[in-house]
Amino acid sequence: MPADDFLMEEHLDAAVGNILQAVISRPELYERLRPPQTRIVKSKGTDYKAFTVRTGGKAVIRMGGATYRVLNALTSTAATYFVADERGKRPSAYWPAARNRLASAIDCYASPLRSASVRPIEISPRQATAATSFAQYAYRFVICHELAHVALDHTFGAGADPDNVDSLRASQDEELSADAFALRLQLGSLPHPDLIVTALSAPVYFIFLLRAFDDFRLALMGELVDHEQWSIEYSHPPYLHRIFNLMREATALVGDDAGEGLGAVQGALEELVQKVWSAALESRDKVAAKATELLADPKLTDAAELTELLTKSPIGVLQALDANPQWHLPAWPFHATVPTELTTFLELSPAGRARSIA
Ligand SMILES: [Zn+2]
Repeated sequence: MPADDFLMEEHLDAAVGNILQAVISRPELYERLRPPQTRIVKSKGTDYKAFTVRTGGKAVIRMGGATYRVLNALTSTAATYFVADERGKRPSAYWPAARNRLASAIDCYASPLRSASVRPIEISPRQATAATSFAQYAYRFVICHELAHVALDHTFGAGADPDNVDSLRASQDEELSADAFALRLQLGSLPHPDLIVTALSAPVYFIFLLRAFDDFRLALMGELVDHEQWSIEYSHPPYLHRIFNLMREATALVGDDAGEGLGAVQGALEELVQKVWSAALESRDKVAAKATELLADPKLTDAAELTELLTKSPIGVLQALDANPQWHLPAWPFHATVPTELTTFLELSPAGRARSIA
């Protein structure tokens, strides 16, 4: 295991070099997955998705600027729930605040904000050890997944046409086979056999990151958009397909215990994500009510409280503004406090809003 302060996202080429040990006996594939044929970069934005672009026989894997940070927020929150604190309490004393921070991050990423963010999550040192290794290996799995797309010569179904069943199916099949191949890369290149449990369960964290952030967007934005016009990203298969597919692969590679272990991690994370989602809805509605009350006060001059509410739940603030059109006119004193992409969003029809963030 790399030292605790070694962050894979700052050493992407080294991480790929390490993963490719799994295919060193296949020189043609090995060469195809490393520079100059395949390069890996990290985006400068705050996106958490990774993807691969192919041009002229070469591939570039683009890791999201916040992929690691967002994974770490999920594994840290999970650690505050599942790992006892110094006083032996579980969920630990850090859990409520961690849950609320993660809920805010989900709200922020679901909103039309251009640069969403995750605020730091406070945890105990023991929890941090667990959270960091799961986040690192989940991140490593994301790299393996993108390398797998290149290795398997996938056509990159990200552009799948949501109205064409065949193209959807093909792109979902590509995702499942990339996950299976990625697990082989991950397990075939471990620096130490003791890491197998972490390396096996980390992919489940990655799939739950997508579940936690992507599958709840409509629930959070539901009062602001036209559901009929909401077309979610269908190129990735539903999360349970991905989990079952990984369980099957883990069983084939390592044995029944491995498959069952993955199943246990999935059950635990499902419980956790449901709690975080409830907190997100509750916080959104509280923020909406608070913002309505705050902004109705004619004596209000300081924007600090509004800014704080925007950090907690931009969607809650949007709901308050949406119900009070007088608050998004340029003459409104707090117009400049609300990011432009939010005020622009409010000017659209519910159908236009759904399309704008699809
Ligand atoms: Zn993929």
